[in-house]
Amino acid sequence: MQKTFFQPEFETMPVDEIKKLQDEKLVKQVKYVYENVKYYRDLMDKKGVKPEDIKGTEDLHKLPFLKKDDLREAYPYGLLATDVKNCVRIQSTSGTTGKRVVAFYTQNDVDMWEDCCARAVVAAGGSNGDVCQVCYGYGLFTGGAGLHGGSHKVGCLTLPMSSGNTERQIQFMMDLNSTILCCTPSYAAYIGETLKEKGYKPEDNKLKAGIFGAEPWTEEMRQDIQKSLGIKAYDIYGLTEISGPGVAFECEEQAGMHINEDHFLAEIIDPETGESLPIGSKGELVFTSLDKEAFPLIRYRTRDICVLSREKCSCGRTFVKMTKPLGRSDDMMIIRGVNVFPSQIEAVLINCGYAPNYQIIVDRVNNTDTFDINVEMKDTDFSDTPKGITAKEKELQSAMKTMLGINPKIHLVAPKSIARSEGKAVRLIDKRKRLGINV
Ligand code: ADP
Ligand code: ZN
Repeated sequence: MQKTFFQPEFETMPVDEIKKLQDEKLVKQVKYVYENVKYYRDLMDKKGVKPEDIKGTEDLHKLPFLKKDDLREAYPYGLLATDVKNCVRIQSTSGTTGKRVVAFYTQNDVDMWEDCCARAVVAAGGSNGDVCQVCYGYGLFTGGAGLHGGSHKVGCLTLPMSSGNTERQIQFMMDLNSTILCCTPSYAAYIGETLKEKGYKPEDNKLKAGIFGAEPWTEEMRQDIQKSLGIKAYDIYGLTEISGPGVAFECEEQAGMHINEDHFLAEIIDPETGESLPIGSKGELVFTSLDKEAFPLIRYRTRDICVLSREKCSCGRTFVKMTKPLGRSDDMMIIRGVNVFPSQIEAVLINCGYAPNYQIIVDRVNNTDTFDINVEMKDTDFSDTPKGITAKEKELQSAMKTMLGINPKIHLVAPKSIARSEGKAVRLIDKRKRLGINV
């Protein structure tokens, strides 16, 4: 049966009651973290705050922040708040090999995360009559597991396709009458194109909706995907540290994503000063988990820049809405859905004996990200044969793949040919900006 909400008691809760619930949960979560996570207790002690100082959400600003670096420093168990015996799962962020971020889940944590994804599936019109094709990657990446769990909870017939093998995706989509598609927006666009190439018209498939996220995409891209697949395309946002996809999701208005506020407390801060900003301001999104057991995070800085809004939504949900991420306050790139930091590229170059003189060029061609790195060759390589240079490029490419999880195209260029800058080096040329993508 088609429902309007998966958990109406929370999704439509009056705003003052949400605030009360958050106040209560925050007090408990801070106490729990203080008692069980030495790493965070030390941060609180250093700042001179005690759990008793936190009486509700208005005291949030007194608490110290957590950053991605803290997660790396505390890797793997330093932020775990319960015995490993109580945990049933780990997931890990995409493409940060070497310095991975791992998140632990108890069964209750998995349930909560899947509930959040189930809310997104229902908001996209999902019910037990639907066939939900999940082509986010399965494995350490949270995309597959999250939407899979959400789709199950709603009672959809779930197709655990994982990503890739487009031929098989299309065959299953057609033969099993998939009605909801879950994947990255670029993969959705690619599936749309492939269907067209094969001579299918949008009305030939049974799809009605898509739940697309994990990477930046534009309104134009939404229109294209909607047209090519004949569906309504919904955005979904999340990050592994906080649980995975489903931290926020779009409703039928398709104008901003509702944050699951009963589980995640959102604030906007000035990324330079760390000062909390009033609702409606553009700034960095910071999350505090409110009832996580294994990997609770207090004031975690996402580095995603966005704006929150409390305007009444026609769908009936009362949860605060966030805009799409409008950019990032660090140098992380998302290439083919994988998080890539320039520091990882530098580490590989240095390991392989190259000077860190390089330039990254990213673009999007036919809905797929291209990823090229120009690297200055060593003086000794300059006299190499073209064959010798190609072999060195291949070697470097394979080292990059091991570190990043994706394959860049490497171009060895003449020594000193990459322009030196007097200020901050221009390491990245992201041509996706020309498509209006907020990178
Ligand atoms: P994911 O599984 O969502 O890729 P990661 O933890 O690997 O999770 O990466 C999280 C980051 O991905 C977010 O901080 C954000 O920058 C980006 N992201 C996730 N969803 C979206 C979305 N819908 N639109 C834009 N960026 C997104
Ligand atoms: Zn809404």
